[in-house]
Amino acid sequence: MKILFIASEVNPLAKVGGLADVAGSLPFALKKLGVDIRIALPKYDLIDEKKYPCQLIARDIKVKIGNQEEKINIFQTELGKEKIPVYLIDHKKYLGEGGVYFEKTAFCGSFAEIQRFLFFSLSIFSLIKALNWQPEIIHCNDWHTAFVPVFLKLKSLFSQGSFSPKVLYTIHNLANQGKWNAKEIFDFLGLKGDEIPSLKERQSGLYGEDLNLMQQGILNADFINTVSPTYAKEVLTKSYFGRGLQETLIKRKHNFVGILNGLDTEIFNPEIDSCLKVNYSFKNPELKKENKIYLEKKIGLKVDPRAPLLGLVSRLTFQKGIELVVNGLKKISAEGGSTSGGKDLDFRAIFLGTGEEKYEKDLEKLAEKFPNKIGVEIKYNAKLAQEIYASSDFFLVPSKFEPCGLTQLIALRYGTIPIVRKVGGLADTIKNVRIKKRFLGLSREVKGNGFVLKEYDVDKFVKVLKRAFSFYQDKKLWRQLQRKVMREDYSWEKSAQKYLKLYQRLIKDVKSKAL
Ligand code: ADP
Repeated sequence: MKILFIASEVNPLAKVGGLADVAGSLPFALKKLGVDIRIALPKYDLIDEKKYPCQLIARDIKVKIGNQEEKINIFQTELGKEKIPVYLIDHKKYLGEGGVYFEKTAFCGSFAEIQRFLFFSLSIFSLIKALNWQPEIIHCNDWHTAFVPVFLKLKSLFSQGSFSPKVLYTIHNLANQGKWNAKEIFDFLGLKGDEIPSLKERQSGLYGEDLNLMQQGILNADFINTVSPTYAKEVLTKSYFGRGLQETLIKRKHNFVGILNGLDTEIFNPEIDSCLKVNYSFKNPELKKENKIYLEKKIGLKVDPRAPLLGLVSRLTFQKGIELVVNGLKKISAEGGSTSGGKDLDFRAIFLGTGEEKYEKDLEKLAEKFPNKIGVEIKYNAKLAQEIYASSDFFLVPSKFEPCGLTQLIALRYGTIPIVRKVGGLADTIKNVRIKKRFLGLSREVKGNGFVLKEYDVDKFVKVLKRAFSFYQDKKLWRQLQRKVMREDYSWEKSAQKYLKLYQRLIKDVKSKAL
């Protein structure tokens, strides 16, 4: 089975968020199942060619887009033990310059970004021709590659010959849809805008009569999936989650499923992670304390290993529940300080993230208010992220919505207990901790793997924090919980099987029900 997996980010070559983690791990799990899977990515200038040597495999290949004729080069690198080929499309103007995205939030906000990814999506067909290797399925991800099935339908205009693979379209986040003024997009592509029915779908938006690239992907792909079963239900039933595309998804609901993301458990492994001061496993989670003391010192906090350390690693956008974190921690600090009424409410916190300025400022102000307790690093830093996962006792993910969320899974792998909201993939992966008494109350068994908040409400969040802090005080139960979560299975194994089945079904018998 031959699959071309295309995405805007692939870990470790270019990463902004969870999409890179998925694109850098799911293909490896599928390769282990015997799939001939290859990856394509733009050749961004930021890719470190010293670490990942790239070989030129094709030069000056024509890509005709609108009335322009551009030329691309194709480079190849390989990733992992499995040596999965990654094809890097090289075009200085459209694909090389700047970061992966042009906005700090990673949300689409410029025509330059729309052009970048339309050009990338179209150049995929030139890549396939140059390779002399025809995938049976092109697996597209998020709005960036959503136009691939549209280009396939407009074959004659974009000179792709008789090549007709199936398209699986995976939605990683419906909040980022890639919308832009329809006329500008059609002018760029040399289209009138009525070539296929779906192109007549418009939305009145920020840029006038907008075309929504994600909507085009949903309408034209052979099959669509998203990254957790709960999110797949939420986006069909509640407009808040569907973000304007619920009706479009409902049209395709018979060709739409949720498949939970997994982790690359070799990359995220506290036993061998070279970013950590001290490595550890479920056999000795007490060693986490050494990482904690080291990191608290490094960040400049007043070191106190008895106080639970809360970690947060996140893009700072409206999705991620940063208001709850800021207001909740202010509140719990005002109530307790170090001790109150016998209940220890003292804590330490370390936050790592970049994104919307408002949230960056709010977190910085919070750290200024409590310099001994709270540290904030406004940046992207992969090593520090690993140190935070390993050092923290709790990990905060109180998102407003969360398609899957990987940070809670990484945290669990490092014996760090997530505090999450019950939405999307967080609801699928984190169950409330409770204690089950056994043998006439002589022994206690911990059930669940985290602390769960239902409503998006500061007081309720504070309650959950208090429950978590109080559980942390019982060292016996705490160790039991840490050991248990570190042994749970968050790998890709089960989900890769589901993708494989989906691929098989697509190749065999799913008729395209697209418009
Ligand atoms: P999303 O895709 O919405 O950003 P996920 O939970 O799916 O959220 O994945 C986020 C990924 O990005 C995780 O691997 C996380 O560690 C990483 N990450 C997010 N922000 C940063 C940062 N500032 N520095 C390093 N890694 C980060």
